[in-house]
Amino acid sequence: MRSLKRIGRKIKTMNSNGTVLKIAVQKSGRLKDDSLLLLKEASIEISNGNNQLKSKSSNFPVEIYFLRDDDIPEYVADQVADIGIVGENIFLEKGKKNALVKRLGFARCRLAIAVPRNTKYTSIKDLNGKQVATSYPVLLQNYLSQNQVSANVHVISGSVEIAPSIGLADAVCDLVSSGSTLLHNGLVEVETILQSEAVLIKNCNLSEEKNLILNQLIFRVDAVLKAKRSKYILLNIPNVAIDKITSIIPGMTSPTIMPLCREGWSSLHSVVDEDDFWNRIDQLKELGAEGILVIPIEKMIP
Ligand code: ATP
Ligand code: ZN
Repeated sequence: MRSLKRIGRKIKTMNSNGTVLKIAVQKSGRLKDDSLLLLKEASIEISNGNNQLKSKSSNFPVEIYFLRDDDIPEYVADQVADIGIVGENIFLEKGKKNALVKRLGFARCRLAIAVPRNTKYTSIKDLNGKQVATSYPVLLQNYLSQNQVSANVHVISGSVEIAPSIGLADAVCDLVSSGSTLLHNGLVEVETILQSEAVLIKNCNLSEEKNLILNQLIFRVDAVLKAKRSKYILLNIPNVAIDKITSIIPGMTSPTIMPLCREGWSSLHSVVDEDDFWNRIDQLKELGAEGILVIPIEKMIP
């Protein structure tokens, strides 16, 4: 707590003039690389030297503060930073008065309850009177209360998954992505409390100027996220199949169709949602589509 306030004061002093939006990003861990990549894809240049506390963009009015993710909601609430990128799990657990601006589509995981493999488990009621280890006491307690379960919540800051094997708890409540950590520790997932991903959060009292910068940032981030979900496709199709092919791919409302040298054939270009495309690929081939190219899109502005 002492160092949190000290770093907070330091950042405030460092940033006493000029309107820049202060963005808090995890200094090391699972969120860091994807957070910086998203900013880079939004064409925001940031130099990221080792052990830097902050870094100013050379081409956009933002400054990045590299902080521990668990502290980011508090820094944003205190206006040490204006916005931040954190897991939704941390945003909800910390319960600070910040607003969720946007889900960012990376660092997907779930907060789940798991019990040792040999435990007889039929419902959440089985946790009545049991010991549950977690780093998420607020979210766990809310879930237990909603289900009228009274269990003893043990707060552990790391390696929660080993708690049952060392006799510290009967169950754990922890973040899971692939489930391999649980498996390695002889645990099985029995309840999902929350689906989480990285989110952009903001202080609720930003100045008008800072909100303007934030809106520009959101515009760019939207373009990047939309582009990630879409692909530019090119395919050669027989002219007789043009109507059918354009009708089976949703979103392909006005494709570009150009004649090929090959008699009775055209080249079709369009932008499609990647999942839709893969779901329809067999149908496209049955209708005679050939030479299909799927190309990534860098930015997409509607
Ligand atoms: P510390 O704060 O001590 O650096 P941490 O566990 O909070 O450690 P990370 O492990 O880097 O930090 O996790 C950061 C965020 O990444 C989590 O809060 C969560 O939103 C997300 N995440 C995605 N998948 C997982 C996973 N399998 N385990 C833990 N976190 C995950
Ligand atoms: Zn953390």
